[in-house]
Amino acid sequence: MERLQKILAAAGVASRRKCEELIQEGKVTVNGETVTTLGAKADPAQDIIAVNGRAIKSESKVYLMMNKPKGVITSATDPKGRKVVTDYVAEIKERVYPVGRLDYDTEGLLLLTNDGEFANLLTHPKHHVPKTYLATVKGVPHGDKLDLLKQGIMLEDGMTAPAELEYQDIDMENNESTIRITIYEGRNRQVRRMFDAISHPVQRLKRTKFGDLSLMNLKRGRTRMLTAQEVNELK
Ligand code: URA
Repeated sequence: MERLQKILAAAGVASRRKCEELIQEGKVTVNGETVTTLGAKADPAQDIIAVNGRAIKSESKVYLMMNKPKGVITSATDPKGRKVVTDYVAEIKERVYPVGRLDYDTEGLLLLTNDGEFANLLTHPKHHVPKTYLATVKGVPHGDKLDLLKQGIMLEDGMTAPAELEYQDIDMENNESTIRITIYEGRNRQVRRMFDAISHPVQRLKRTKFGDLSLMNLKRGRTRMLTAQEVNELK
């Protein structure tokens, strides 16, 4: 159940403010009954909601994952005209937006949806959705340093929560190593700042998992719809 003005606004009737006015003016009906109270709720999937006698068509909810390439902004628009993630879903008629964000230089799994409640749920700090990254860092951090990150390390915005880390690959020739890291928070540039704090700056960063969802073999720059089961498992 959602507030009527929210349903109307999401269906593109008008702004939320204007929709409130329409309700107060007695122009909105739910299953044939006029509703004038602003707190009223309805179920957009079940109820027939009409404005001035015309049933509204509520937008269906869509859920996608993309393999974001680096060099793309996690935003629906960019005033400077740079490439944004929604450029990759131009053929989808619903207006989707990213769930959380990946840095311009980070690649990997990003969710897109038009379901605001779902997006809030997954990005709310109290939900602690695990996110896994492959971080290629400069040098080979000593196990003691990885232990610091596992336990939690002090950053400018406070201690990080415990994280999971394991070596994935060590490239002695290029003096780099790749570490798989899972964090349960989503602070700004968190993984980069964690490795900066142990003096092993990140050279490349890729998110491979979000909750139980894995990027698998989705090619860079490609998107795919989530299955109903995948959506339910994330909730
Ligand atoms: N941590 C980062 O530092 N960057 C990202 O894009 C995601 C997590």
